[in-house]
Amino acid sequence: MRKPLVAGNWKMNGTNASNRQLLDDILTSIDDFADIDVAIFPPAVYIHQVREALKGTGIHWGTQNVSSYLEGPYTGEVSAAMINDFNCEYTLIGHSERRCLYDELNLDQLVLDQLLAEKYETAASSGLTPIICIGESPQEHDQGQTEEVVVRLLDTLIAHQGAKALSRTLLAYEPVWAIGTGKSASPEWAQNVHQFMRERVAKHDRKTAENLRILYGGSVKGNNAASLFSKSDIDGGLIGGASLIADEFVNICQAAAQHI
Ligand code: PEP
Repeated sequence: MRKPLVAGNWKMNGTNASNRQLLDDILTSIDDFADIDVAIFPPAVYIHQVREALKGTGIHWGTQNVSSYLEGPYTGEVSAAMINDFNCEYTLIGHSERRCLYDELNLDQLVLDQLLAEKYETAASSGLTPIICIGESPQEHDQGQTEEVVVRLLDTLIAHQGAKALSRTLLAYEPVWAIGTGKSASPEWAQNVHQFMRERVAKHDRKTAENLRILYGGSVKGNNAASLFSKSDIDGGLIGGASLIADEFVNICQAAAQHI
């Protein structure tokens, strides 16, 4: 049995005051979801605030990115050790907004996948649980290249550390065309891709594949979460916009709890 995770990625949103309000609202309306995991990913500067608010609540927290380097002259980067200092459970790796917009820009796809594999190695060996984001761009989607894109990153990860290492990680299928667009993938489409990913890992290690949690991300809301989470290979969600609205986020958590 895979325990679903609902992960709220706040992206670059929030202030001390608005975060406090959002966390208070979530904490007053969230049930005791013992059967699912819930985690919040604030901007790095608010990790301390989130930790103080969530300590002892059973909700986890994590970062939106991690450096592939351990320490040194990398201005603006955040290391795995720093993240550990704030008791983070998780870190996102390879979110498409980083791939498309920031330091990961202009890299050849294979070099990019290699960089993500290095981040994964650094995070996992520091005791963090990486959530690796994978998904095709709108162009790749239109050209029918979804499986190719997914396989390229999965194979790079497996070549780096072996399939067994994936037992210490989660994957998030995040089709770029669905992120922040209001156009979620259909539950059938997402299920097919998730199943394909699981089967790819199973070729290397069946047990790891069976236990591997694969989240779906891309315009998940309170009104479509239940149909997505009802699919057998969808083990929760990575939620962007809707994680900034307490009621929506709590509804999504409820949907995950109903589909265990
Ligand atoms: C995300 O940021 O990972 C995401 C899926 O965003 P949204 O839910 O807003 O599409």
